[in-house]
Amino acid sequence: MAAESPRADESAWCRPLFEGTQLSMLVCDPVSQEILDVNDAILHLLGYTRDQMLSMRLPDLYARGGQERDDGLGPETCQLHSHVRRVAGADGNDHHAILQRTAIEYGGRDAVLVVLQDVTRHVEAEVQLRETQNELHRAQALAMIGNWIWDAASDSHVSTSPEGCRILGFRPEEAPVSTAEIYARIHPDDRALAEQARERALHDPGYKYDVEFRLIRPDGEVRWLHSVAEVRRDACGRAVKMLGLVQDVTERRRAEDNVRRLAYYDTVTGLPNMNLFESEVEDRLVQLRRGAGRGRSPARLACLIVDLVRFRDVNYALTHMYGDVLLALVADRLAAVIGQAGVVARCDSRFPIVLDGADEEEARRWAQHLLRALEAPFAVAGISYEIGARIGIAFAPLQGLDYHTLLRKADIALYQAAGMARNVAVYVAEDDPHTPDRLSLIGDFRAAIESGQIQLFCQPKVTMDGGEIVGAEALVRWVHPEKGCIGPETFMPLIEATDLIHLLTQHMLATAVTQCEAWRALGVRLPIAVNLSARDIAALSLSEHLRELLELHGSCAGLIGLEMTESSLMQNPAESIAELERLSGMGFKLYIDDFGTGYSSLSYLSRLPVDVIKIDHGFTMQMIEDGRAASIVKSTVHLAHDLGMRVVAEGVSNARIWDALQALGCDEAQGFYVAAPMPAAQLLDWARASPYRLLDEHACA
Ligand code: C2E
Ligand code: CA
Ligand code: CA
Repeated sequence: MAAESPRADESAWCRPLFEGTQLSMLVCDPVSQEILDVNDAILHLLGYTRDQMLSMRLPDLYARGGQERDDGLGPETCQLHSHVRRVAGADGNDHHAILQRTAIEYGGRDAVLVVLQDVTRHVEAEVQLRETQNELHRAQALAMIGNWIWDAASDSHVSTSPEGCRILGFRPEEAPVSTAEIYARIHPDDRALAEQARERALHDPGYKYDVEFRLIRPDGEVRWLHSVAEVRRDACGRAVKMLGLVQDVTERRRAEDNVRRLAYYDTVTGLPNMNLFESEVEDRLVQLRRGAGRGRSPARLACLIVDLVRFRDVNYALTHMYGDVLLALVADRLAAVIGQAGVVARCDSRFPIVLDGADEEEARRWAQHLLRALEAPFAVAGISYEIGARIGIAFAPLQGLDYHTLLRKADIALYQAAGMARNVAVYVAEDDPHTPDRLSLIGDFRAAIESGQIQLFCQPKVTMDGGEIVGAEALVRWVHPEKGCIGPETFMPLIEATDLIHLLTQHMLATAVTQCEAWRALGVRLPIAVNLSARDIAALSLSEHLRELLELHGSCAGLIGLEMTESSLMQNPAESIAELERLSGMGFKLYIDDFGTGYSSLSYLSRLPVDVIKIDHGFTMQMIEDGRAASIVKSTVHLAHDLGMRVVAEGVSNARIWDALQALGCDEAQGFYVAAPMPAAQLLDWARASPYRLLDEHACA
């Protein structure tokens, strides 16, 4: 074996090679590993002097702290083979070097030629590359982004970064993963979309693959993923690879859903809010307008507004927190009725609903379903409440082709329902106070007061046991030079929405005082009760105003009554009580109007200094046919008497009602059966001709 080895010292051709080569070389003893010879290249590389190196053993060169074993230079390791080692330079810096060793004969003895190839730069670059890759993986994990490569030939994801594997729900060792396996994990609702995007990206070079879909992880967790990819093609344009990035965007989607929920849904009930409702209705109207334009079969929709009649009062009694609970319960019932037939939204204590394709008959049927659903009492905070509901309905395209018109008309229908004491009403143009014609009336209202067109009509009230005329209610009429006598239902809704209501109330009070004084001058005592609106109680300093008015006319408070509804008082309960105390203390007679239509809070009622309760005509007029109405009338009479109040029944329109009320012990009656409202100036003539008795004036009581 030794005979075949080259001789570094003896072969003339070997020496110049050893001396002149760029390769770093040394010769050492195979047993003692003492260095016998070195070339210039190795001196240059390691920085030692020739003498230093010739006094060293080969292991002295190995860097301290290196992991490498000193594996000796036995014949078996002295084959021509390579080793990467760390070798210490004279300056203390380590070099990464490949050591190749081969047995030679040197000066007639066995020796080992060691060729040292410095690979420090490669090793460092490799380490850096590995670090960069690790950093990339860490960054990917942080950003929840992974990359993947799909290969057309095998139709599988051939390479996926660790984070990519995690996102897609696979272990790295499971790769390659077939396309079918990946798509099987996509949420069934998103699968078609993701497949379409992929197909398109593969076949259409102009298309950018960019999709979001849900993926179901093996543990069942659903995550939202965003995937983008680039397609690599061969010379013929066939897709060979897809290089993609996939990101877990679940948190972002959740945040977006949250924002969407806050922007478009009511937090109290979870129903759509008015923003979403408007866009839902608008979308339908756009389709409807298009459909109508092309002469298709007449499309239509119905807009309903469900109003909770007594909610305001319940809310007051319950405090807002429980009021919200109640609204949520109502919302559940309404949504359960409507289901997929339309959209239910919430706006305060109202629930606007759009019904697809409903005509009047269907809409009315739905309205009845809704009312029935709300009939059963609602249990809140251990108490059950019947809140009562009313529904106004308008239709598209019949009554409007834009959202605001439709909603306004449904709102007016609601008002019309209230006016007619009905639960459901469909919009009727003739009753709409907001038609341009009526709006122009409002512009004329101030002038109408000044020119005497706004007149005092009176409807008498008589005692049921003695038939005495004990007073009259002041009811406004607009005696218009062209339009004739206009009733309050035409203009009151608009007047009440503006400060004109104060002007009207002051006018009615002044006219009533004047009229009472005129009767007093004739020796007749006939008190007049004037209606107050909710805004009057809040804004007018009534007691002040009335004091001045009485002084001006030298009149007394006993001749004037003030009628107000429970709900108007509930808008500002504490202040209302204080004001009523003052008015009552001054001697004015106080009436609760339309009793039974609000949510009567008995504890509140008993604290009010009220003299008379007026039973709403809705109950009176139905009491013959409707047992429920009859029992409300009956219990109201008892309640009023228990609280030391008198009871007036409104809407006494025939003898049967009169008799029934008389049997229940009702104190006074007002209604067409006694007399319709008439101009105040005609009241005395009517009274004298009637079977009822007028009271003589004695003195101010
Ligand atoms: P209200 O206070 O409930 O007045 C009673 C209404 O019932 C009057 O309607 C009266 O004409 C009507 N009525 C009387 N007897 C019968 C009957 O037997 N059957 C039927 N079906 N109805 C009867 P009117 O005059 O149209 O007034 C409507 C509402 O307008 C009043 O309801 C009141 O809330 C309001 N109002 C009228 N005048 C004034 C006013 O000067 N100021 C204020 N703030 N509101 C007023
Ligand atoms: Ca009244
Ligand atoms: Ca009334």
